[in-house]
Amino acid sequence: MDNELNGHEAHESQDTHEASNRRNFLRLGLSSGLGIGLGAAATMGLMAEGDSKGSAGSKVKLMSPDGKIVEVDSDQIVDIPRSVELVVREGVPNRKFVMVIDLSRCKNARKCKNACSKMHYLPPERSYIKVEKMQDAEKTAPYWMPTPCFHCDNPPCVKVCPVDATFKTSDGIVSIDNTRCIGCRFCMVACPYSARIFNWGTELYALNDEQKEAIKPHESCSPHLRGTVEKCDFCPNHTRHDKLPDCVKACPNGVFYFGDELDDTVSNGDETLRLSKLLKDKSAYRYLEDLGTKPRVYYLPPVNRLFPFVDPNEHPEKEHHE
Ligand code: SF4
Repeated sequence: MDNELNGHEAHESQDTHEASNRRNFLRLGLSSGLGIGLGAAATMGLMAEGDSKGSAGSKVKLMSPDGKIVEVDSDQIVDIPRSVELVVREGVPNRKFVMVIDLSRCKNARKCKNACSKMHYLPPERSYIKVEKMQDAEKTAPYWMPTPCFHCDNPPCVKVCPVDATFKTSDGIVSIDNTRCIGCRFCMVACPYSARIFNWGTELYALNDEQKEAIKPHESCSPHLRGTVEKCDFCPNHTRHDKLPDCVKACPNGVFYFGDELDDTVSNGDETLRLSKLLKDKSAYRYLEDLGTKPRVYYLPPVNRLFPFVDPNEHPEKEHHE
């Protein structure tokens, strides 16, 4: 098996899974209008007023796929079985994954983005990690800031998902079950960090049959499903086996530290540090933490920087990649 996929456990066939998944069912519902079945309507995230499981004969109001409010009998609404067993949503036991990004070390080498895209079979036009040029004030020096998903402990993206397709696991990771996602994009609007991207067109990108079968779609955005939302997943195929995510391993400058809050340790592959001491000694902060999202990604301020800032747009001849 491809090394990229080592650690994936044997599981159900993707074809079988897709044939029966609720997302395909919902597609049918969308193309046929509300009349296809109120069960579909209830699980498409239609906003309901009142108890959707009220007593027989009572009425509830739902928003139809074309945005109209309709009134239906509550006993017409049925639950659709989950496409994923609940147990897979529990996460790695006794782990609380955390990431620390040292802004003083980043020189926009973009190795993290490339490794991430390779690991997730992403086409060139999509990336789960952004590296932004930042400048805190007019007279302060600019710096580079990588931004993955922050796997917030109070994630607004999870709260707004109408079909429970995105969820928080016990190990701290915010995951997406793409077979359940209906592509409403509420989560993209709710995320204050723009960490999520939408797959407008590429399905099962560049995967051979063995790779498709080896990937668990409910805890990784691969294989990609057209019309669904994707984002950084902290490489669950690695973290499940106490290995570092690919962005951490690929960075030549040791920018990313990853580890376990319960062990109080993080590593960038070269050095392993005490998490609490690192955060305290370097005055770590979390991006826009006053929003109350409680990100699981910490930043170390860009002080005593290791590299001069070079903007490839202004000085293309000085651009360095390592
Ligand atoms: Fe959700 Fe955005 Fe937080 Fe990631 S960064 S967990 S997508 S709110």
